[in-house]
Amino acid sequence: MHDLKESIQFIKGVGPKRLKYLEKIDIYSIEDGLYFFPKSYEDRREMKNIADTKDNEKITIKVNIYESVQEKSIRKGLKIYKIPIKDHTGVACAIFYNAPFTKDIFKEGDRIYLHGKIKKAFGEVQIIHPSYEFIEGNTTTVNSIIPIYNLTHGLTQKDMINLSRNILHVYGESMYEYLPADTIKRNRLCDIQYALGNIHFPSSPKVLKIAKYRLVFEELLILQLGLWLIKNKFNNNQKGIVFQKQKECKELIAALPFTLTNAQIRVLQEIETDMKSEKIMNRLVQGDVGSGKTIVALIALYKSVLNGYQGVLMAPTEILAEQHMDSAKELLEPFGLRIGLLSGSVPKRKKEEILKQLEAGHIDIIIGTHAIIQENVHFKKLGLVITDEQHRFGVRQRSILSNKGTNPDVLVMTATPIPRTLALILYGDLDVSIIDELPPGRKKIKTHVADETKRKNIYHFAKKRIESGRQVYIVAPLVEDSEHIDAKSAQELYLEIKENYLKDCSVGLLHGKMKSSEKDETMDRFKKGEIQVLVSTTVIEVGVNVPNASIIIIENSERFGLAQLHQLRGRVGRGQYQSHCILLNYSKSPLSKERMEIMEETNNGFIISEKDLELRGPGEFFGTRQHGLPELRIANLFKHINILKQVQKEAEILMNEDKTLSLEKNSALKNRIIHQFGTNIQELCL
Ligand code: ADP
Ligand code: MG
Repeated sequence: MHDLKESIQFIKGVGPKRLKYLEKIDIYSIEDGLYFFPKSYEDRREMKNIADTKDNEKITIKVNIYESVQEKSIRKGLKIYKIPIKDHTGVACAIFYNAPFTKDIFKEGDRIYLHGKIKKAFGEVQIIHPSYEFIEGNTTTVNSIIPIYNLTHGLTQKDMINLSRNILHVYGESMYEYLPADTIKRNRLCDIQYALGNIHFPSSPKVLKIAKYRLVFEELLILQLGLWLIKNKFNNNQKGIVFQKQKECKELIAALPFTLTNAQIRVLQEIETDMKSEKIMNRLVQGDVGSGKTIVALIALYKSVLNGYQGVLMAPTEILAEQHMDSAKELLEPFGLRIGLLSGSVPKRKKEEILKQLEAGHIDIIIGTHAIIQENVHFKKLGLVITDEQHRFGVRQRSILSNKGTNPDVLVMTATPIPRTLALILYGDLDVSIIDELPPGRKKIKTHVADETKRKNIYHFAKKRIESGRQVYIVAPLVEDSEHIDAKSAQELYLEIKENYLKDCSVGLLHGKMKSSEKDETMDRFKKGEIQVLVSTTVIEVGVNVPNASIIIIENSERFGLAQLHQLRGRVGRGQYQSHCILLNYSKSPLSKERMEIMEETNNGFIISEKDLELRGPGEFFGTRQHGLPELRIANLFKHINILKQVQKEAEILMNEDKTLSLEKNSALKNRIIHQFGTNIQELCL
């Protein structure tokens, strides 16, 4: 048995240079190489005779070279190299452009396989820039289905094929089976060696299907079991806190400047039921942008404090944390609650004081960014943990926060509507509440798609609105100009707008590279209306709430995901004014056009995210890595929904029998899960 964790440099043909290139595509160990699956395949099993070839057809032929390579200058800078070839049915020639090396490698009398496209021209049968393999050598790519890998600069398909072949040759047998025998039997899976061998070099499409099924199945199974192991940790039948008192919440609700929507009331009831019971609450609140999630969170926090517990609200950005802080103060301080803020911008002295007060129980609610999960943050009696815009945090961060109390209730909030398939696997461990109603009186945001030529008109339109008292966001994809990316930067736009298009207005700039204090000041001034036009990057994407802003102009819209555009659009339409979202699209591609049309047609976040998922695929849509989950190499949450269902059945069987996967027969699988999830799960489920 060989150790698959060994460096890939032990494989034949991998020198220091190739090692570097391989690292670029995340291949470090032999196992990484083994699990670097082909992106597609080419069927080269069928061999053609020269006489039977057709123009433009891609084929493989087996031929003799009957004369030496001919070099011909066509014009300046273009030479062609012609290799005369024949088989028992006819003659042809292989054509290479500007390829003097051909003279060194192709010799009269050689026998080779060629694979490429046929061109019938000048009365000849030509095969243009074919790939080739000498028959005397190692000939396994001809007469077979060959894998096609994603490449990086410096590596060819041939390199990758040789790599896979050499790995399989030496290490193929070392891959041990980690799926339990029963699992394999119940689901009629092939074993791991068969799967790995045939995913790279399948002997037939049928075999490939069998191998692929097994690998997709195992990947989803590991993901699902990993998540459920984490859930067990959350919910391992320990008793949660019983929050009894809630009468005073009615007073708080009565004091609000608005009445809650029916959806908000329903979700609050669901939360109340959880909090009252001794089950540990683990609930996801999903609600489109502007549906009013913050207030729901604040009421739940109040309930926690009423019952003698502290609460925490974590947000992904400082801007958002501060905004929540303002809302919380306004709403809860009149009821005697003590609220503290912890974020990067809080000065050290002040921070130390807050930490002390928090530990002593003199602060009831702490609001902040990631700063809250630091080790030095201690609570006296933590009862409720809320994370806002959950999609920005990982499973792990959620759990670190929970571990700062004894079985606190957990609420997570997100505005990114998650398509059902994805919710199933990502949030399978959460109960879900949905706020499916916007507060009354909101006018539907009007969305317009435009190109560069309309820029002047757009700014003119914006100016009119500013004159009647409204404010404007302008969003750019980059912070500063880049040589490599052809897109607008916030800095460039800011100057352009301030000095040119909107020079009579007060214009502000906001981006993630600014100092916290500068960001705060700019945001404050925008909130107060001192800044009329805010040029920004996507730092305003989540949660920012300035109801007087009624126009958002998004530059290079084609560079954003639909779900992200929807989030950005949600910055307007938060007050009583008719709002507009203008999408500047610089791309002429049909796909881009289709995406923009979806944005024009609907304001429904769920429809948008389903479409986004469909058009972009899940990897990009919802970077799994962001969630602290293992990367999917072969499974596709969109395509493989049926396998996922099968997997969930299997996972249930396994965990019903062995809740923590501690039995000997499941130990290899559990190790594999731990390996795939990395430290995340190790901390969580051991
Ligand atoms: P999101 O769900 O996007 O986080 P917020 O909680 O920021 O939305 O709420 C958006 C705006 O709607 C805020 O200004 C908030 O005060 C207001 N709001 C929330 N609930 C209601 C309601 N029931 N009626 C009217 N306005 C509301
Ligand atoms: Mg919000």
